[in-house]
Amino acid sequence: MSVKENLIHIKKEIPGDVTLVAVSKTKPNEAIIEAYEAGQRVFGENKIQEMTDKWEALPKDIEWHMIGHVQRNKVKYMAPFVSLIHGVDSLKLLKEIEKQAKKNERTISCLLQMHIAKEETKFGMDENEVKALLTSEEFKKMEHVKVIGLMGMATFTEDEKQIKEEFSSLKALFDSIKSNHNTTENLDLKTLSMGMSGDYTLAIECGSNMVRIGSSIFGARNYN
Ligand SMILES: *Cc1c(COP(=O)(O)O)cnc(C)c1O
Repeated sequence: MSVKENLIHIKKEIPGDVTLVAVSKTKPNEAIIEAYEAGQRVFGENKIQEMTDKWEALPKDIEWHMIGHVQRNKVKYMAPFVSLIHGVDSLKLLKEIEKQAKKNERTISCLLQMHIAKEETKFGMDENEVKALLTSEEFKKMEHVKVIGLMGMATFTEDEKQIKEEFSSLKALFDSIKSNHNTTENLDLKTLSMGMSGDYTLAIECGSNMVRIGSSIFGARNYN
């Protein structure tokens, strides 16, 4: 099937209020153009250099989401254009994003990445860390970042029950933070980014409103 056909198929499966991030990492500009011509405007990348190259070459009304792990020393390269950073996992990183956003005279929207998987390898914060971040004086003073939600990745497993438990725990945490922290200029939780090609239906059932889908749109990747 073509990229366009895949997109049409997925769009039918997800409700209209769920944002589809087309994960184009490792894929050439031609594949992105194909999706763009089928109406897709939100794309996700996991490497800052690759995303910056694509941003330079492709139409400027594309919204670029950084979905990968972010190194602080590279934030400056995407600060002029990135529309959402999914993988914020420390106050230190948020401080760097604040600094670079300010330099570019803009506000950068961020999601806090939560560790929900049983695997050791996945990045992310736990509940106490996220609460400490949100109540810190440093965060409260930030004027150029806006935390608009949470992101998480389930364990890579066939066990649907386990995936469901992990997604449900993230949704519960999302709801609890929402009710325990006042909405402010820089904190307004509305986005819950969870679900990839293999588990997006489950994720939506558990309350996701943003899915990050790569291989089901663009085909398998040669490397990650
Ligand atoms: C690669 C990636 C995806 C997309 O994965 P697929 O299984 O190809 O849909 C989603 N989220 C993150 C964080 C990724 O790195």
